[in-house]
Amino acid sequence: MRILGVDIGGTMMKFGITDEQGIIEQYREYPTESKKGGPYIVQKVINLISNFTDFDAIGISTAGQVNQKDGSILYANENIPHYTGMKLKAILEEHFQVPVKVENDVNAAALGENYFGKGSKYDDFLFLTYGTGIGGAIVMASKIYHGQAGIAGKFGHMITHPNGILCNCGNKGCYEAYASTTALMKKAQNVDAKYIDGKIIFEAYRHSDEKIGSIIDDWVEEIALGLVSLIHIFNPPAVIIGGGIMEQAILIEKISTRVKYLIMDSFRHVEIQKATLGNKAGLLGAASLHLK
Ligand SMILES: [Zn+2]
Repeated sequence: MRILGVDIGGTMMKFGITDEQGIIEQYREYPTESKKGGPYIVQKVINLISNFTDFDAIGISTAGQVNQKDGSILYANENIPHYTGMKLKAILEEHFQVPVKVENDVNAAALGENYFGKGSKYDDFLFLTYGTGIGGAIVMASKIYHGQAGIAGKFGHMITHPNGILCNCGNKGCYEAYASTTALMKKAQNVDAKYIDGKIIFEAYRHSDEKIGSIIDDWVEEIALGLVSLIHIFNPPAVIIGGGIMEQAILIEKISTRVKYLIMDSFRHVEIQKATLGNKAGLLGAASLHLK
């Protein structure tokens, strides 16, 4: 079976055809131009899919909250105006006359890891991505646990600091306000404006910059605190962690060490692993929706 995987992100959209082995052919990337809004994006997706031939199904990974039952966008914030309510599955099925499945980007990435990546040796695991915010997915028996409205796994909005920093969601003290990459950047920039990305921060860390060292340690502690709560709730065999910042080799080890120190003894078998599919996880996971 040949599946066209499409990953619609806030900045870029990615296209590629894959098979059961997860080998991607005809990979292409284009700017999403998300500010132009939902109807524009959907038309752009249709135009770009028209350049591909010879596929049996389409799997879509997209930013925003997805209603998996009808493949529509349940909610998208102002980063993609007028995307809420778009009936992606219905529109694309009518246009291309092949089965279409739609999943939220974090869930799709988790499924990608489960089918083609590090998660393939686990039936159950938690998946978290650390970036601008913190995305989460719950994989149970190799399926996403969706919850009542299809939006379970919003780990970024666990409150880890009562009355803490104001979060984008309107609450105070959410996990992502302390443990996201954005949170790390803000703290580093308070020390020196030159710390504009993870690479520069970790370069300073490798040169034993003490201030940066303590900022990174504090941030790792914030990451670990959230993971400890999740591991105590789910008792998963593994937690798989993604996001560009996790490419810093030292991080997974530091996080794992702190988590294992903080959790109850009987939970210590949990494995903390780095995601392996990088920015192809969403595309591959969307394709895997047709392989299960
Ligand atoms: Zn929040």
